[in-house]
Amino acid sequence: MNEYQQRIEKIQKRVHNTALRYGRNPDTIKLVTITKTQPVAVIKEAIAGGVEFIGENKVQEAERKIPELQGIYREFHFIGHIQSNKINKLLPLKPDLIHSIDSVELATKINQRLPKERIQNILIQVNTSGETSKYGCEPEQTEAIIRQILLLEHINVCGLMTIGKITRDSEAIKENFALLRNLLEKINNTLGTTMRELSMGMSSDFELAISEGATILRIGTAIMGSRRQE
Ligand SMILES: *Cc1c(COP(=O)(O)O)cnc(C)c1O
Repeated sequence: MNEYQQRIEKIQKRVHNTALRYGRNPDTIKLVTITKTQPVAVIKEAIAGGVEFIGENKVQEAERKIPELQGIYREFHFIGHIQSNKINKLLPLKPDLIHSIDSVELATKINQRLPKERIQNILIQVNTSGETSKYGCEPEQTEAIIRQILLLEHINVCGLMTIGKITRDSEAIKENFALLRNLLEKINNTLGTTMRELSMGMSSDFELAISEGATILRIGTAIMGSRRQE
């Protein structure tokens, strides 16, 4: 058993137990392992140890690593900020889900550059913590943004993503996650949509996220160990 397998199994057990504790079906929660800063050889070990879904946050880094991992991961998720001049580099990597769309402009540019037959699954990143350093649209703008993006024929909006406040105050973090869940429900009711994904929860707060309805967890260091210098 390699070290990654041990850590993955430990985290999977915690996810499973937390889901049951809150009356949720553990099978409805996807665990995405964030492999940013980790070299390809290390990611291969983690995949051999049971990692199926991987996530990267920088286009240039993904462009270097993802082609070398073709055929061995189950899904590749992109979770980082996207500058419009990087879209052409990201799309050929065929991300299964882009978590970090926060404007109509960005979605429109992606829509224009997708080949005819491709549908890109995305999430809308929402700034629920009010921390200015974070990307994401304001909660109040989210419905209007989605309304516009729904008109784009190659884009499929699957739900919302957020980063919880960086604090030890778990009540404050829970508020961020609850806000995202309530926002999705409200938007679905207003627009008549059935978006269901809530991407929230990282190494330090994924149990709180599960308690508030997370369907996708983004876990880096708790599985991969500390981040490496590039
Ligand atoms: C790095 C990163 C994570 C994972 O963080 P950990 O604390 O290492 O689990 C999750 N989401 C986003 C957007 C990230 O950039």
